[in-house]
Amino acid sequence: MSLQEAVTEFRSRFRGAVLEPHDPEYEAARKVFNGMIDRKPRLIAQCSDVADVITAVRTAKASGLQVAVRGGGHHAAGLGVCDDAMVIDLAPIRYVRVEPAARTVLVGAGCKWSDVDHATHAFGLAVPSGVISSTGVAGLTLGGGMGHLSRKHGLTIDNLLSVDMVLADGSFVVASAEENPDLFWAVRGGGGNFGIVTSFLFEAHPVSTVCAGPMLWNLEDAADVMKWYREFITQAPEEMNGFFAMMSVPPGPPFPEELHLRKMCGIVWCCQGSMEQANTILEPIRSYRPPAFEFFVPMPFPMLQGMFDPIYPTGLQWYWKGDFFRELSDDAIEKHLEHARLMPTWQSTMHLYPINGKVNRVGESDTAFSYRDVVWSEVIVGVDPDPANSGKITDWAKGYYNALHPFGAGGAYLNFMMEEGDERIRATYRGNYDRLAAIKAKYDPGNFFCVNQNIKPAAFGS
Ligand SMILES: Cc1cc2nc3c(=O)[nH]c(=O)nc-3n(C[C@H](O)[C@H](O)[C@H](O)COP(=O)(O)OP(=O)(O)OC[C@H]3O[C@@H](n4cnc5c(N)ncnc54)[C@H](O)[C@@H]3O)c2cc1C
Repeated sequence: MSLQEAVTEFRSRFRGAVLEPHDPEYEAARKVFNGMIDRKPRLIAQCSDVADVITAVRTAKASGLQVAVRGGGHHAAGLGVCDDAMVIDLAPIRYVRVEPAARTVLVGAGCKWSDVDHATHAFGLAVPSGVISSTGVAGLTLGGGMGHLSRKHGLTIDNLLSVDMVLADGSFVVASAEENPDLFWAVRGGGGNFGIVTSFLFEAHPVSTVCAGPMLWNLEDAADVMKWYREFITQAPEEMNGFFAMMSVPPGPPFPEELHLRKMCGIVWCCQGSMEQANTILEPIRSYRPPAFEFFVPMPFPMLQGMFDPIYPTGLQWYWKGDFFRELSDDAIEKHLEHARLMPTWQSTMHLYPINGKVNRVGESDTAFSYRDVVWSEVIVGVDPDPANSGKITDWAKGYYNALHPFGAGGAYLNFMMEEGDERIRATYRGNYDRLAAIKAKYDPGNFFCVNQNIKPAAFGS
């Protein structure tokens, strides 16, 4: 059967939309969040349910098509799309079911975090995720997932109870602590290597109103604030999260006009406690280096989650670099300042996400995500709407990364890097890599799922 015949037959058995280059919807559907990515797949299969995912996997396999699997399409390296491939797009599988008594949440693989936050908030619950609510649940979870609730409740994967999956041979399995535990271990940090997750079952926590928002300081104060912060965040109550940022002030409310576009540093707080408790915890920094501006108020958790979404609409140019850090030395702080002063565009930024607390209390080999002994996950992102600036933002991110990498722990969060090759992936999984490669060989021996931060099946290479 020719490929075209296979596609025609596929269309007849597939319930969702199948888009080929001649279809009017194809152009918009091939795009991912990062506007720097410009790839043309052979077809896009917009799955309506698990049956569609199975049909798509079997068709791709039988016709020799490579597959790219897409959740929210937010991966920086554009791993949700590939030239000449079949994109298995899960976006239509979009449902959230909250079980308030059990505090569990069942999430379809096409959901964004805003879908989950919206559904859980009605029950006074939240699932730990990231800091931008437009990101996909699937990719963020499979990589680890770090954000405002990490210190208190762990990574997103530390709150994952089970997944439904379609494997490379088109079979359907459940993976949990009880069923296929090796697969469940692997998907908690192993990315999209092992199969297509069609739904996630999470544990949720009572989180409703939080005291949260940014404090900003002039760059002249940044070294002092960073030195204070490095001590503070290693002993602060786990109810208090704060990620550090080098950034430019967004040109809009609630930021005062005189600060718009000024390069500053900031900490975005999220306290799961009362305003009184939060103010007591934050009193030392307010009296030591009073912020030039702060917007720290009680707010519904979904409001915090969506606070920065408007700064980062889909289609901007992005270049990412990441690293893990155990400490923040005076020398490293100097490098941060040097490169913060060079931020090339106002949307470019550097964040240090604290992943100590509960994240550190999970063992290095308890899940595929191995860096349980670090304090921060750093991300440096060069961002701008104009493709003409792609070189400028890339060079800045690389320069910043090169200056800080020698101070790092070795690996990086897989969701904060571009496609950086096998060595970087091995450095990130450390002692867990061989076990992952063996599980890959068991569930995907032909490396059918290879458009990802790829782990080679053990028999292939290691
Ligand atoms: C603006 C922005 C802010 C971010 N902030 C955070 C943050 O605060 N915390 C954080 O942890 N991360 C953050 N990230 C990184 C984020 O975790 C990754 O971009 C992640 O890939 C997003 O998931 P996605 O489903 O949108 O990705 P996609 O691009 O759809 O997929 C990413 C990878 O996962 C695979 N995949 C996707 N869905 C499935 C599935 N159902 N089954 C199997 N494999 C699948 C894909 O094949 C691909 O390899 C942020 C990203 C952006 C762009």
